[in-house]
Amino acid sequence: MYYDVIIVGGSIAGLLTAREISSKKFSVLVIEEDYEIGTPEHCGGLVSIAGLEELGIIPFKKTFEHMIESAKITSPNGESFTINSKNQKVAEISRRELDKQVAFQAQKNGAVIKVRTSFQEMTETGIRTNEEKIDCKIFVDARGVSSLIHKDRTGILSSAQYEIYADWIKKGKVEVIFDQEKYPGFFAWVIPSAEGKGKVGIAGKGINVSETLNEFLKQKGEFSTIRKIFAPIWIKGPIKRFVEDNVVIVGDAAGQAKPTTAGGIFTSGMGGVYAGQAISKFLKTNEKTDLLDYQKKWTERFGKEFDKQMLARKILERIDNETINKLFESITPEIVNEISEKDDFDFHTSSIIKLVGIKNSLKTAQTLVSSELKKILG
Ligand SMILES: Cc1cc2nc3c(=O)[nH]c(=O)nc-3n(C[C@H](O)[C@H](O)[C@H](O)COP(=O)(O)OP(=O)(O)OC[C@H]3O[C@@H](n4cnc5c(N)ncnc54)[C@H](O)[C@@H]3O)c2cc1C
Repeated sequence: MYYDVIIVGGSIAGLLTAREISSKKFSVLVIEEDYEIGTPEHCGGLVSIAGLEELGIIPFKKTFEHMIESAKITSPNGESFTINSKNQKVAEISRRELDKQVAFQAQKNGAVIKVRTSFQEMTETGIRTNEEKIDCKIFVDARGVSSLIHKDRTGILSSAQYEIYADWIKKGKVEVIFDQEKYPGFFAWVIPSAEGKGKVGIAGKGINVSETLNEFLKQKGEFSTIRKIFAPIWIKGPIKRFVEDNVVIVGDAAGQAKPTTAGGIFTSGMGGVYAGQAISKFLKTNEKTDLLDYQKKWTERFGKEFDKQMLARKILERIDNETINKLFESITPEIVNEISEKDDFDFHTSSIIKLVGIKNSLKTAQTLVSSELKKILG
């Protein structure tokens, strides 16, 4: 059996790659080891409407859950401020449905999708799955963070996310809670999917995520658990090379999720779109530079922002609870208003700069982070 392209991983990045290549009428096979596209869902489902549009997805009614209205950010000592996020136009979507929607787009273009089929190894002429040997010209690795685990563990954090029913979850209201002792280098989050229903999670370096999340939930109040997931997240930015010979790496497997939040529907998804376009061109011309254009395009679009996010991450990894508490004290209503009006969900480092008090002379934080901040501003 032969396909022009075989894609391993039937999630957002792999399926978008498949959609783009099959739209140019090349033969594409997507293999997914799970038994259903979109399941198990390991995502909070937050994505900007602008991002979805750029991905070429108008969410079906089943996919779209609701719009996010605000984000409450809480410091270790319980102080908080709330950003009005209506201007940012961020939606909460169902990943189970979103991935199926893209699978449908790809299939309509002619791509073949097979679930419960796992990649085992590469061969001289293609790949071997758990079922058979299949030949191809291009092999796309869209296996997500699992592809990075054996390459570099230092960029990986453990996360836990539970889907729960709880009266304290309010429709449209996201929560982010910082505490460097409980969630070192990351945070806890509450993402509503409806009134009284949502996803609550935590991530952090060197912690027992299940115990930490249980503790967080105990403090929040009564709840019922519907589903639990434990998944690694990658926070170290893009890998060096997206293309090696006839192997193309896309999405989280290429480190295309945001280093600040590990969100990747848009940025990893765009990796799939750019890769698909570059592969299609290469299949037509056989020019290696056409294939390499994929990395160039992704880097032009996201490279600078990811560099800044990496620096923002370094700052977060270095500051302690006391500094975070002080930073919160320095946040004025004017800063909150400015962020509410101007923040961009996908390119958010300018808001981080405002929050870490560049406009206020907060000595402790500025001494700690000044060189990094200069780099972010530059
Ligand atoms: C707890 C959590 C919450 C998140 N919340 C958000 C959010 O709110 N917004 C956002 O934008 N992003 C969020 N993300 C990140 C987002 O889910 C990822 O960036 C996105 O799913 C990456 O897509 P992908 O296609 O690159 O990889 P993945 O979605 O990881 O998909 C990889 C696929 O490859 C398959 N696979 C792996 N190995 C094999 C094999 N050997 N053979 C066949 N198939 C294989 C897997 O089964 C999987 O389906 C979150 C992540 C986590 C863990």
